[in-house]
Amino acid sequence: MYRTHTCGELRLENAGQTVTLAGWVQKNRKMGGMSFIDLRDRYGITQVVIDESSSSELNEKVAGLGREYVIQVTGIVEERQGKNPRIPTGDIEIKLTHLNILNEATIPPFTIEDESDGGEEIRAKYRYLDLRRNPLKRALTLRHKLAHETRNFLDGRNFIEIETPFLIKSTPEGARDFVVPSRMHPGEFYALPQSPQQYKQLLMVAGYDRYFQIVRCFRDEDLRADRQPEFTQIDCEMSFVEREDVLNTFEDLMKHLFKSVLKVEFKEQFPRISYADAMRYYGSDKPDIRFGMKIREITDKVKGHDFVVFDSSPYIGGIVVEGIASYTRKQIDELTEWVKRPQVGAKGLIYIRVSEEGIKSSIDKFFSAEELQALADDMGANKGDMIFIMAGKQKKTQVALGTLRIELGNRLGLRRPDRFAPLWVYDFPLLEWDEETKRFYAMHHPFTSPKPEDLEKFYSNHKEDLEQVAANAYDFVLNGTELGGGSIRIFDSNIQKRMFEVLGMSEEEYLYKFGFMIDAFKYGAPPHGGIAFGFDRLCALFGGQETIRDFIAFPKNNTGRDVMCDAPSKIDDTQMAELFLKSTAKN
Ligand code: ASP
Repeated sequence: MYRTHTCGELRLENAGQTVTLAGWVQKNRKMGGMSFIDLRDRYGITQVVIDESSSSELNEKVAGLGREYVIQVTGIVEERQGKNPRIPTGDIEIKLTHLNILNEATIPPFTIEDESDGGEEIRAKYRYLDLRRNPLKRALTLRHKLAHETRNFLDGRNFIEIETPFLIKSTPEGARDFVVPSRMHPGEFYALPQSPQQYKQLLMVAGYDRYFQIVRCFRDEDLRADRQPEFTQIDCEMSFVEREDVLNTFEDLMKHLFKSVLKVEFKEQFPRISYADAMRYYGSDKPDIRFGMKIREITDKVKGHDFVVFDSSPYIGGIVVEGIASYTRKQIDELTEWVKRPQVGAKGLIYIRVSEEGIKSSIDKFFSAEELQALADDMGANKGDMIFIMAGKQKKTQVALGTLRIELGNRLGLRRPDRFAPLWVYDFPLLEWDEETKRFYAMHHPFTSPKPEDLEKFYSNHKEDLEQVAANAYDFVLNGTELGGGSIRIFDSNIQKRMFEVLGMSEEEYLYKFGFMIDAFKYGAPPHGGIAFGFDRLCALFGGQETIRDFIAFPKNNTGRDVMCDAPSKIDDTQMAELFLKSTAKN
């Protein structure tokens, strides 16, 4: 037997017992005639001691122990003289009687401590060493708990977990597919699934009315910060449901996860707002509602003062920022430069400072103090507050104001990671027009149903009509992050065909790509809908972190490489030939 206890287990009650532990040497230090070994495993750290009264052979063996050696120790549990209240085993130590070196270790390239001295690159290369550190251990344990509680909850609601294939047909819509060449079918390729969307819908046709899967998905997208080419979803689908049924079920799932994993209880229903309102009040389809600072439209209130910027803009809106009337000119100028960056894209920023000394603004030339005060009152600004205003095209200006709102939320510390503000956003547009390719794309995916009241517009051939069709789609948003998205699906083969048509596909093309779906819908498809949650991001948010990488055991870096095993990599000529492949890459 390698061990009787773990390194996180022993307490004062165990004093006097002879125990055997196994683990890694965190530290080995000599003080006076005594040696202290911090022995670490997944569960914690236990101190092992030896003094000069032990045999010199044992003392020598201890002296030779380096960091990260794997050892087995046997000894007697004793009460510690200088207790360490910071660790659960801090009341005891083990007086060493026997030491067995199980494996030696090369000195690790960085310290295995909570705050490591290793840079990101080196830690990624030696990921298995980084994973020994507590923050990563905590992250992966949290991930496990969330997966476990998700399964518990969904099982209790009659969902069954069904695996769907990874080698599927390539039908790119949205992101690019990763493809896998087929050896047995020369010149043909499988794709890795971007999500199990089509399979889960076919499971509904098959009568498995509540499906879920914690599943890996693959998207060959240009990497943005903190995106992974492979990631995990909690993927779900239900039959005989309307939007409310789906939202209620998965709101319960989220509440269960908050309660069971974080001990955070939500008594009220999560707020539900339409896409149009999310844009109107937050300039974003994934609003962070941990703080107010809502956008207010003032278009009709400020025109007609000979100020061209206002008079020539179709939309004017602003936000009231509490308590920053004391911002200096320099700070306002810096913020103005910030909103003019291409990422935000505003033309400028107008301010109204509502301070004890009176009202002051960058539009004093065009508005009297009384007029500004009336505007401030109307927007709900109090003394001590600052108003920021932007003008321009409606959506662009709303988005810019929304970006400024988030930035100010960050700067003012209003986006605390330990506060959770979930909500649902619904009624997204069904289609998005792309100017470059001059065609519509499905905003969610091509299987999302148009709202029944918009069906007439859906069959219209006018771009303006199609732009207005609302989708029966919804997102789950947490702290300004889109954590989940789903929809009530099309289950009528004719509507599905029309959808492909609207997306610019010929009959030949959609039958080639999706013929099996259209066929399936002819054999008694039930009404159905579902949702998928980004599991990695859920873990990160529950762990109060921005980056998902720590919550994935072996992630890719930000150029999509696994720097530990150096993938992707070339394959040899025989393998290439077997797959009927030739590379045209330059190097
Ligand atoms: N398959 C969708 C996605 O990956 C989610 C859904 O509609 O259920 O975004």
